[in-house]
Amino acid sequence: MKILVINAGSSSLKYQLIDMDNKSVMAKGLCERIGIEGSNLQHTCVLKGLDKKKIEKPMKDHGDAIQMVIDALVDPEIGVISSMDEIGAVGHRVVHGAEEFTDSTIITEAVMKALDKCTPLAPLHNPPNIIGINACKKIMPDTPMVGVFDTAFHQTMPAKAFMYALPYEIYEEDRIRKYGFHGTSHKYVSQQAVKFLGKDAKDLKIITCHLGNGSSISAVDGGRCVDTSMGFTPLDGVPMGTRTGSMDPAVMTFLMNKGMTAAEIDNLVNKKSGVAGVSGVSSDFRDLTAAADDGNERARLALDMFMYQVKKYIGAYAAAMGGVDAVVFTAGVGENDAVTRKGIVSGLEFMGIKIDDAKNETRGTIDISAEDATVKTLVIPTDEEMMIAIDTERLVSE
Ligand code: ADP
Repeated sequence: MKILVINAGSSSLKYQLIDMDNKSVMAKGLCERIGIEGSNLQHTCVLKGLDKKKIEKPMKDHGDAIQMVIDALVDPEIGVISSMDEIGAVGHRVVHGAEEFTDSTIITEAVMKALDKCTPLAPLHNPPNIIGINACKKIMPDTPMVGVFDTAFHQTMPAKAFMYALPYEIYEEDRIRKYGFHGTSHKYVSQQAVKFLGKDAKDLKIITCHLGNGSSISAVDGGRCVDTSMGFTPLDGVPMGTRTGSMDPAVMTFLMNKGMTAAEIDNLVNKKSGVAGVSGVSSDFRDLTAAADDGNERARLALDMFMYQVKKYIGAYAAAMGGVDAVVFTAGVGENDAVTRKGIVSGLEFMGIKIDDAKNETRGTIDISAEDATVKTLVIPTDEEMMIAIDTERLVSE
């Protein structure tokens, strides 16, 4: 089956056409500046090994964008299929599924209504996802569609992990609680880890570290997420590129009392903070490492703060699960940054976590554990589009 994976943002739309028979990407691309001047589609025909092609054409809305994607996919030169009918199903990324969605789901009218209910929890992200689904349904009314939520994998968390110690009515009225994000990535890499280790998922306790621009850590016990570091929003947990991560919430009221508005604080903690804010250098770990190596103390501090917090989550989640069999690193930093990986796990030898320096520095090595480690340390590239396609195929085949 060929599955089209769609990730719709407010003015952009990413897509991949995946052939599930051999789990390969046939074509992929991005529509940019939807509804704004300078709309363009950047399409890569992977199957024929062609270079990326940029097509500039006005796209007034997501409907125009999806039509352009389909046109590119069936194009005799840069396309990979002869007609739209070859697309067996469409998988849509949806950011927030709240408590409504505990798994990916076939999109029905009832699901569309339930999606609207989740929107107050992700006012910036869910609406463009919903617009993308509606636009796709118009153009491909007979093709089954599936929604895959960033939050769904974390819905197995027990209440003791997801509740905040606010008055209970606040949870009841506004569903303020921990939801967690990056779920599609945590699910994918934890499943890949299970496969790699060749054991039954139910016998494994895994800590997945998705470390990119945004970072989150999850505890996966028996294939089910039991805790995760992001919370009500993706601001919680470890320091990130430009986000604070967890801190005493009283800092916010202190700043408000000094005269900052809610909007200013929102901007401060989401866009001006994190390793970029501490270092004053960059949110990019490559720049930070270079600056730290050059003697920049604040860049060194930002990296130290990041590694220290990730290390603490590994310890906390091992305690929460009563042990750990594998620690998995993924995403931009987790997959590529050997120095940061080493900094995170060093000092955890007492738990049986120990990496082999040569393996850690050899790109493409999955198992970077030392011979005498009792806990495996793995580097597994994430693939959220593939996870969306896997879930989509599973649901439409049921
Ligand atoms: P996003 O959260 O936006 O999906 P990514 O997972 O792509 O982000 O991660 C982006 C981060 O990965 C950036 O901070 C970048 O510095 C970091 N990164 C990418 N490659 C490397 C590398 N070779 N060494 C260190 N950091 C890297």
